[in-house]
Amino acid sequence: MNRTSPIKSTSYQKQSDHPLQYVKGIGPKRSAALQELGIHSIRDLLYYFPFDYLDRSSIVAIKDLPKHVDSGKPVTVIGQVYRQEVRRSRRTKRMIFFLTIKDQTGYLSCVWFEGIQWYKDAFEVGELLAVSSYADFDKLGRVQFTHPEFDRLKGAMEEDEPDWGKLFNTGAIIPKYRSSSELGKVGLDSRGFRRIIRNALKHSARAVEETLSEDIRTRNRLPELSVALQNIHFPADAHALSLARQRLKFDELFFLQLMLAYRKQVVDGAVKGITYTVESKLARQLADSLPFTLTHAQRKVINEIADDMKQSKPMNRLLQGDVGSGKTIVALLAMLVAVENGYQVAFMAPTEILAEQHFRTLAAYLNNVPVNVRLLVGAQKKKLREDVLEDIRSGRGHIIVGTHAVIEEQVAFAKLGLVVIDEQHRFGVMQRALLREKGMNPDVLVMTATPIPRTLALTVYGDLDVSVIDEMPAHRKPIKTAIRLENQKQKVYDFVKEEIRRGRQAYIVFPLIEESEKVDLKAATVEFEQLQAEVFPELTLGLLHGRMKSEQKEKIMLDFKAGTIHVLVATTVIEVGIDIPNATIMIIENAERFGLSQLHQLRGRVGRGADQSYCILTANYGWFDKHHKGLDPGEVKQEKDVARKRLETMVATTDGFKIAEVDLELRGPGEFFGTRQSGVPAFKIANLIEDSALITLSRKEAFALVANDPQLRAASHAPIRKHFEEQYKEALELGKIG
Ligand code: ADP
Ligand code: MG
Repeated sequence: MNRTSPIKSTSYQKQSDHPLQYVKGIGPKRSAALQELGIHSIRDLLYYFPFDYLDRSSIVAIKDLPKHVDSGKPVTVIGQVYRQEVRRSRRTKRMIFFLTIKDQTGYLSCVWFEGIQWYKDAFEVGELLAVSSYADFDKLGRVQFTHPEFDRLKGAMEEDEPDWGKLFNTGAIIPKYRSSSELGKVGLDSRGFRRIIRNALKHSARAVEETLSEDIRTRNRLPELSVALQNIHFPADAHALSLARQRLKFDELFFLQLMLAYRKQVVDGAVKGITYTVESKLARQLADSLPFTLTHAQRKVINEIADDMKQSKPMNRLLQGDVGSGKTIVALLAMLVAVENGYQVAFMAPTEILAEQHFRTLAAYLNNVPVNVRLLVGAQKKKLREDVLEDIRSGRGHIIVGTHAVIEEQVAFAKLGLVVIDEQHRFGVMQRALLREKGMNPDVLVMTATPIPRTLALTVYGDLDVSVIDEMPAHRKPIKTAIRLENQKQKVYDFVKEEIRRGRQAYIVFPLIEESEKVDLKAATVEFEQLQAEVFPELTLGLLHGRMKSEQKEKIMLDFKAGTIHVLVATTVIEVGIDIPNATIMIIENAERFGLSQLHQLRGRVGRGADQSYCILTANYGWFDKHHKGLDPGEVKQEKDVARKRLETMVATTDGFKIAEVDLELRGPGEFFGTRQSGVPAFKIANLIEDSALITLSRKEAFALVANDPQLRAASHAPIRKHFEEQYKEALELGKIG
């Protein structure tokens, strides 16, 4: 059925056959709410892990709180809601929500300055809560908690008086589950989850089967799956919890590695690629004509690529380098080697506008080199397109620049020998299979400006070899970055005018809100017209957005490059790769809405020439309140904090690796790599950064397993095989993992 399938299918009873309704406490309403969360079976529910635990060691009696004020660690108080009220601050006139908690040793005030409307109805007197925060003093010197995190323990008035002794001394570690106001409506707050998961665990023997073989478990000292699931939710003690976490993390990492092991097998196969002669006159000619000398890092990477090209095994290399590190010239030298050996090259960019820019860049570099570069994009006139296609077919076209359509469509290359992909995370198994079907096995070089720590890259990219350009061309001035608020915009615009008077140019970028491209476009157009008419009437502005025809875009870009446009107003289409050294100012409007890597990419558009460059991030944090109306105020605050952290990181550093680390930390690996493109599963519990030791262990086990028993035929491997087929195989076949 599928040519890349490593193991044959068997039929079996699926674990999804154990529906949620079997669990006590789950009726149709809760079942529906859980389905919304992607929880469809008892198994899914048991894999809804706590995001945190109430740790008894941090629970403090209210009378002991003053001792903890300066400890620098958050503390937890367990108590009942005693009183609650909304007051208006006499000084600032702002509303404040006060909540008083009592335990058997005293009273504690908690205050909220935001989200009052939500909090005022959130609690009931008598309700048992755990509140966690850094202890703080109010104006009268009494201890208070400001914006504490809270967790509901029991319902209001469930008992007259909680059993304090039990809560403090013998209470087990209490799991906390993520909830939302929607889930809360059907009783699935953290406490509700505790109940139904406790019930669901009674079914775990039937609903969840062991996934690892005994030898792997023993070798790595991992508990059985059922034990791990019990202890991840209701751990007997910290040690049991730690073992449970190890086991569940191992599972996730092991099956990812198993997938990578199969993928490597599929990709490597027994195929033979091209053996190039890497001494190239064309490459030498180009290198000698460059107006700059290559950096050490560029030379090192060029050698690594040349070594690959010499081998008969197809090259499969990832080239990492921060924006502006000079990846294009490195790739171009490799392209010339391929051309001199009589092969064609496909050079692919993620968008047509970038393809067009690459085309112009290459044409400029190759001014005096006898190589035929052609551009293939959708917007071309029919006659031109026919001509390009003919050049590709006949082999007269040496380097073909375009988008992915270049290999995906019915384009017939005479002799394709090298595929270079810019700014694309992965080159999938599917694309490879497609090429192989056309009888081609080209070398592949993938370029990315997303820096990834090396060990991580080896894990996530499985079989790719990795090269890094870790040095910037000399004489670049670091870009100065600043955050400005909405009310400081006039100053920002004055600064832009001043720089333009001095001969520089500027970008002003607006965010794209994915909800509606049309609305976006309108917003950008309106802003553009307003900027032109009211802010910069004496200057020439240009507008660039994704909906424009490529000829229009090209004209605008050329005008900007030529300097006839002073300020380019754009949506994020200019994000990657655009190279105009005279543009020294990057203004990012509503910068709070952009992701870190996107901000970094955008900033990389300036700082390309010899002049001092600036990046100004204008922030409007109030946007989160408007955009997330009705959301739990705690979550909104968290989003704001994350946004702040993103912008502050941008100010603090221009180092792409550092930015990537923060980004990884803020977003988690799943999103960081873009789960869909990269196939990195969104881990529930494993952490690609923290769990490097487990990654190594699981990788060793998985690769050994595939080497020794590729079909997973041994009886002892049956659990692995079953789980892999059920959960992962489809991803492997579809090439999603690669
Ligand atoms: P990126 O890695 O972001 O794709 P580019 O390849 O677009 O970077 O290079 C950015 C700019 O730096 C280009 O104008 C390029 O000509 C220039 N450049 C590349 N290598 C060097 C070097 N060794 N010294 C000086 N400038 C360089
Ligand atoms: Mg580039």
